[in-house]
Amino acid sequence: MAYDYDLIVIGAGSGGVRASRISAGHGARVAVIEESRPGGTCVIRGCVPKKLLMYGSAFSAEAEDAAGFGWQVSVDGHDWPALIDAKNRELDRLEGIYRSLLTNAGVDLVEGRGVITGPHEVAVGGRRLTAEQILVATGGWPQIPDVPGLAEHGITSNEALDLAVRPDRVLIYGGGYIAVEFASIFNGFGIDTHLVYRADMPLRGFDDDIRRESATALAGRGITLHPGCTLTGVVADGAGRRSVTLSDGTELVVDQVMAATGRRPNTSGLGLEAAGLAVGPRGEIPVDASSRSEVASIYAVGDVTDRVALTPVAIAEGHALADSLFGGRPRRVTHANIPSAVFTQPPIASVGLAEDEARSQYGEVTVFTSRFNAMKNTISGRSEKTFMKLIVETASDRVVGAHMLGPEAGEIMQGIGVAIIAGATKADFDATIGIHPTAAEEFVTMRTPRA
Ligand code: NDP
Repeated sequence: MAYDYDLIVIGAGSGGVRASRISAGHGARVAVIEESRPGGTCVIRGCVPKKLLMYGSAFSAEAEDAAGFGWQVSVDGHDWPALIDAKNRELDRLEGIYRSLLTNAGVDLVEGRGVITGPHEVAVGGRRLTAEQILVATGGWPQIPDVPGLAEHGITSNEALDLAVRPDRVLIYGGGYIAVEFASIFNGFGIDTHLVYRADMPLRGFDDDIRRESATALAGRGITLHPGCTLTGVVADGAGRRSVTLSDGTELVVDQVMAATGRRPNTSGLGLEAAGLAVGPRGEIPVDASSRSEVASIYAVGDVTDRVALTPVAIAEGHALADSLFGGRPRRVTHANIPSAVFTQPPIASVGLAEDEARSQYGEVTVFTSRFNAMKNTISGRSEKTFMKLIVETASDRVVGAHMLGPEAGEIMQGIGVAIIAGATKADFDATIGIHPTAAEEFVTMRTPRA
């Protein structure tokens, strides 16, 4: 049977766009369907706008630090709408780039909501398009827990990136990546910020030392932490404020309540059942190591698969799939040793295993830590420590985990990630000469294991 396309991709986010472009480059006839704006979560309502707001929020601390170096700086307010406008202009520019990337690659961009109507067919608007293969790359969406008033009176990261008015007081619910990053953003803009999370420390899944150091640093910046707490109710007062009750009895009145309580794969209403495809417990599309679902003609990459919800992972999966299907180069993405950063202030970055994971995987591990005052803080007077940690499998001397909290952690960890992927040993780290004076050199000068 002749299909309209070799590949139909649903979702023009990071994974879908990469898979479309590369497939077209390999000579495939490709359509990508997008119901919102090309660019997807990362470009339109995630990584990019988040980082722009993060840059904006960091200037207040820079101004404080400048005083120690003799600058007479005063921060006279902040024009919030100007920031949101500038951010939106940049997103428009990036959306344009994504559109032309697709057009220039010869991909048909079909705007509308795609619904799968069979193993080889997708309906969009009034049209039905057919393809030999279908790729679902629809990403994820914020999930809001069932707390009375939270869904009605709260916002998620989608709206938090686009607030028309700067709030004076904000409560963020959750302790994951999004929660702590937005807490830092709001705090940097001088907004009274409360972070409420049910665990004893934020950032479950990260190394416990990093979680502890992060909580200390966030509190040190002036964020009020409410560990071990849940929200029990949110009520709007009619004048734009929200009264929030916590499980420990605390009551707070804030301008915005943000739910940052995780994201779910975006599969509802996608018609997967029409193709005979059952989703997993979180709504995810189960796939094998080649990103193929249980229906042979349907593939999925990125957050919708609930593997590792990070943009570069979705891009790698989309690229590998395109090479495998149309490039004559079948390959898979390894999901181990993926570096990531949390763009709090100060930021966190990490690659490899947390200490408890390393112990259960390898038994005996040797741990090196360093906690120090960054040079800039000596004169700025900021009492905030940088923390670094290396975890080494004792038997092989291989470095199996590296973790950092401190300025430029994300920039530093990228290179450490290469070393860990290459199987570097602690002896290799020791044989590397440091770049002086930097914080990064500490990673190659840690000599004494923690007792
Ligand atoms: P996370 O899974 O990181 O965090 C979710 C948070 O919500 C956790 O603290 C969790 O608590 C809490 N939570 C979940 N359900 C409930 C509930 N019912 N009641 C109370 N608390 C709840 O999700 P995010 O939404 O922050 O981020 C989604 C993913 O996006 C991340 O995992 C990451 O992969 C990616 N991301 C990456 C970024 C980066 O690379 N810098 C930035 C932003 C997102 P508990 O831990 O107790 O379960």
